Amino acid sequence: MVNLKINNIDVTVPEGTTILEAARLANINIPTLCYLKDVNEIGACRMCLVEIKGARALQAACVYPVAEGLEVYTNSPKVREARKVTLELILSNHERKCLTCVRNQNCELQKLSEELGVTDIRFDGENPNYGVDDLSPSIVRDNNKCILCRRCVSVCKNVQTVGAIDVMERGFISHVGCTFEKSLNEVSCVNCGQCITACPVGALKEKEDIDRVWDAIADETKHVVVQTAPAVRVSLGEEFGMPIGTRVTGKMAAALKGLGFDLVCDTDTAADFTIMEEGTELLQRIQNGGKLPLITSCSPGWVKFCEHNFPEMLDNLSSAKSPHEMFGALIKSYYAEKNNLDPKDIVVVSVMPCTAKKYEVAREELAANGCPDVDISITTRELGKMIKQAGIDFVNLPDGKFDAPFETSTGAAVIFGATGGVMEAALRTVADILTGEDLENIEYHDVRGTNGIKTAEVEVAGKKIRLAVANGLGCARYLMEQIRDGKAQYEFVEIMGCPGGCVTGGGQSIVDAKTKMSVDVKAVRAKAIYDEDKSMAIRKSHKNPVVTKIYEEYLGEPCSHKAHDLLHTHYVARDKHYN
Ligand code: SF4
Ligand code: SF4
Ligand code: SF4
Repeated sequence: MVNLKINNIDVTVPEGTTILEAARLANINIPTLCYLKDVNEIGACRMCLVEIKGARALQAACVYPVAEGLEVYTNSPKVREARKVTLELILSNHERKCLTCVRNQNCELQKLSEELGVTDIRFDGENPNYGVDDLSPSIVRDNNKCILCRRCVSVCKNVQTVGAIDVMERGFISHVGCTFEKSLNEVSCVNCGQCITACPVGALKEKEDIDRVWDAIADETKHVVVQTAPAVRVSLGEEFGMPIGTRVTGKMAAALKGLGFDLVCDTDTAADFTIMEEGTELLQRIQNGGKLPLITSCSPGWVKFCEHNFPEMLDNLSSAKSPHEMFGALIKSYYAEKNNLDPKDIVVVSVMPCTAKKYEVAREELAANGCPDVDISITTRELGKMIKQAGIDFVNLPDGKFDAPFETSTGAAVIFGATGGVMEAALRTVADILTGEDLENIEYHDVRGTNGIKTAEVEVAGKKIRLAVANGLGCARYLMEQIRDGKAQYEFVEIMGCPGGCVTGGGQSIVDAKTKMSVDVKAVRAKAIYDEDKSMAIRKSHKNPVVTKIYEEYLGEPCSHKAHDLLHTHYVARDKHYN
């Protein structure tokens, strides 16, 4: 342990702690902009400058390690003046259009300006006028609002190991961009949106599809069906000031009805179909000597990453469509036939924790007769905006319910939202099938938790199944290399593209860097997901009466010819660097 003084207060912290972390532990806030815990700790923006007794220059607290006897001042006149000038310089080169900015009232730069009392900007910046890159189906980049903090670059390069963006040029014309100034849409960006949730300002946002949804709802010739993914219900409340990880399933169903959708359903029911198809695929591959490990494919960012980086292993991916695509396919076939509707008159909207789903819905292989399974995908944040635009008092809204035919789901489906959840859901079904029993012990704790890679071995009906779970693409890359190079063997692998899985997907509510220092957002939202699982009457996908009914009435057996036609897909090998 190391003893030091911060603002004359005695503080004792472990060796290796930075001054910034030590101050936070002592409840002293030091402002930051480029710092993002575990992602970007580079001391670049100079907002966290502090005075250290005996040192000639001010030091960046986010990268300065504590030392025995150090005396630190975080709020001296010299520190306050330095921070204010730095902030004014950043603002002088910033397109200050808060009123029309996506991050208005949720912007770390705006908040800092208020906290540091910046009422006048004494400098004129160069303000180069950059074009907005909005060619990607998922991500919009606006360098006019970028403060060059590099949080997006770090998360893309170091956490996701994609490296689609970097800082180009020097001085006033420094800017974030893709190789050869290409659009994100032309490079190997996987649309994960982790750069958006890392960005402190409005320089990155999702491609907004709200107006397309309003237009569909207003069109009387269209039957508009909405579905919501498992992870949305543990983040949407944050858009209305509720605590991180508040479960709002009932309010969300009620709000969606209030928005005017014709049918409000739960993607969770379709997740149960994914388990039936993927679980059957696993059993068939194990029993018939098929390609192993079977690797999950419901995360579109992960699928695109695999297509770019491991094209030789695409046969390992489960051919089962992701839950929202299965939902769309069933709505435009089973539901359309039952209700005498033309699939072309149905608009399926999915509310997802994910920006890559916007890219996924446009994949041509996820369509039937030119009609996409899902027409529009919006993020949790976009749904929050729609509810605000409609004037719905979300916090005080009484709970509503989902509509038939996709109104019943299971605990297995809801845990899809957390890393390890798809694997656990599949094991609940596979174990029952292999043993022929209705097993009571259905929680697989070895695959839970927020570690980047988790491995386990389970024995089911005398069969050993080796498991691996990875979340975040850097961890996925490592695991895939181990498998490809023969250094590790598994039968079943789950990969989710975003660190923490869908609960911290690129479309979820944005949590600021200060909060992320003290709250483990992944763990808090995942706990809410597992609490929801515990509260469910049915916790295994094959016990879902909606699922069994639709197989009996329409699809036949899991992995039947018809199920393959509707619920399975294929993948495309891509260039390593370009789309
Ligand atoms: S990024 Fe922040 S400071 Fe800049 S215009 Fe948007 S809200 Fe205002
Ligand atoms: S969406 Fe993901 S892959 Fe694309 S630039 Fe952002 S972090 Fe990188
Ligand atoms: S786009 Fe956002 S995260 Fe990336 S450098 Fe600019 S301000 Fe920082």
